[in-house]
Amino acid sequence: MPSTEHAGAPAPSAHDVVIVGGGHNGLTAAAYLARAGLDVLVLERDDHLGGAAISAEAFAGVEARLSRYSYLVSLLPQRIIDDLGLDVELVRRRFSSYTPADRTRGLLIDNEADAAASAAAFARIDAEPDAAAWQAFSADTTRIAERLFPTLTEPLPTRAEARALVGDDDVWRAFVERPLGETIDARFTSDLVRGVVATDGLIGTFTSLDDPALDANRCFLYHVIGGGTGDWDVPLGGMGTVSGELARAAREAGAELVTGAEVLGIDPAGRVRYRLAGEEHHASAGTLLANVAPAVLEVLLEAGAADVSAETRTSAVPPVVRERLRALHAPEGAQVKVNLLLTRLPRLHDTEVAPEQAFAGTLHINELATQLDAAYATAVRGGIPSPLPCEVYCHTLSDPSILSPELAASGAHTLTVFGLHVPHRLLERHGNDELRALLQQAVIDSLDSVLAEPVESVIMTDASGRPCIETRTTLDLEAALRMPGGNIFHGPLSWPWAEPGAPLTTPAERWGVATLHPRILLCGSGAVRGGGVSGIGGHNAAMAVLEGFA
Ligand SMILES: Cc1cc2nc3c(=O)[nH]c(=O)nc-3n(C[C@H](O)[C@H](O)[C@H](O)COP(=O)(O)OP(=O)(O)OC[C@H]3O[C@@H](n4cnc5c(N)ncnc54)[C@H](O)[C@@H]3O)c2cc1C
Repeated sequence: MPSTEHAGAPAPSAHDVVIVGGGHNGLTAAAYLARAGLDVLVLERDDHLGGAAISAEAFAGVEARLSRYSYLVSLLPQRIIDDLGLDVELVRRRFSSYTPADRTRGLLIDNEADAAASAAAFARIDAEPDAAAWQAFSADTTRIAERLFPTLTEPLPTRAEARALVGDDDVWRAFVERPLGETIDARFTSDLVRGVVATDGLIGTFTSLDDPALDANRCFLYHVIGGGTGDWDVPLGGMGTVSGELARAAREAGAELVTGAEVLGIDPAGRVRYRLAGEEHHASAGTLLANVAPAVLEVLLEAGAADVSAETRTSAVPPVVRERLRALHAPEGAQVKVNLLLTRLPRLHDTEVAPEQAFAGTLHINELATQLDAAYATAVRGGIPSPLPCEVYCHTLSDPSILSPELAASGAHTLTVFGLHVPHRLLERHGNDELRALLQQAVIDSLDSVLAEPVESVIMTDASGRPCIETRTTLDLEAALRMPGGNIFHGPLSWPWAEPGAPLTTPAERWGVATLHPRILLCGSGAVRGGGVSGIGGHNAAMAVLEGFA
């Protein structure tokens, strides 16, 4: 964008840093940088901040503020909460998970069970040997978590350094070098237990557990290292509280947060063109932070590419970087997200487990390992898996504060369902409305397969008499959040270390936030170590900027 383009238009506002996107990571970066005294402008296209980490009243006239997209927190470091003075409280769930085995039995993992109670729980589903295997497996993942999680908010370790930190070659090989499916099969005997473990490798990731590309291993790693324990906690007040607190911290530190500001084009020299209230504006900055997905950044760069060649470092891009960029180019999500509001919790076929226990943790439905494999095979062939593997979670059992007091007293509960193995490519066969209807029915059928009464009999109705159920396909997520292909992590996850051959010369490279353009840094989910609700992408981008200023 040469300056002549601005003839007659207001001069671009000048800033130290402009952040494209006001998701929770953009807000984290803004808070750190503004606290360091930099002039920071955040441009968010939506009419609110937070991206995929928001709460919303999803059903007309019903006072329930649901975590609309993301719902559980594991990867947000206490360090970020403390540094930014966030009033964020995370509640441990009383039970970890419940998984029905058949119409009468299931596996309840109780966070407070002693060894004997735990053994009895596994015996109930004829999986006695897996009780000890579960403990040993948890010890291994805890070892990885304790050693690797603290590195996520430091400059990238090399692969060799990460391996040395883990300090156990068998553990390293099992989780980092061998396909996750092989490790799970070697450690557990029960189809059900294998499935419960496997799901951590498949959330938001369309792959087979045995794929030598190891996408499932990378996904698994991020699901078991959070907080150094791998626990997934409930954000008190809902996910909007997390983003709300980050926005408050950024604002109080002096960052300017503008909503309704859609960035239309950016260039490698640090210039940004955006639309606000129907008018075009320009801003410029020493550094641009992209909270948007790398694939969106690419589009914005193409749209703003007046003098790309001048400041772009395209020569001698190492193969390891090129490979990562290729993977991020056209990401694909593979889930359906359903939010429900219920008049009460439904009863299960398994009468020995109360609904308050079954729904308190993660309820795994139709997620036996063999069912996960079959679902993947069906989806690869272009079909909708039946039964659909689903993860179900009830926020209000751990935190009723998201309901009005009247609603809470009435026994109402929220339910969130995350259906797996329904890739974006299904839209090649179905229109979006048709796919949404089919997936919603598949989720209902899957739920009903373990319930003693149809879930539809307990779905609340809104002020207009419509059922309180909201279903989001991958295309819906792309439209609402600009997550390409509906990929919840903005693209495939990377190992949380620098691979051999990856350049570590600049602060951005050392912090895992580099792009091909020295002035443009990733600060969102697409950064190395950026996926999930963590603030880590934003923190690390801010650290890279500040190192550059030092
Ligand atoms: C359905 C769902 C369930 C999930 N569940 C969990 C969970 O339980 N726990 C967990 O840890 N993670 C979960 N995730 C993943 C997690 O929510 C994301 O990885 C994380 O929120 C991404 O944060 P971010 O700030 O990097 O990006 P985003 O939240 O994607 O924010 C990017 C922002 O950029 C804005 N933007 C895009 N284009 C432009 C433009 N041109 N101009 C201006 N602004 C723009 C967007 O509107 C958005 O606000 C889930 C995600 C989804 C979608």
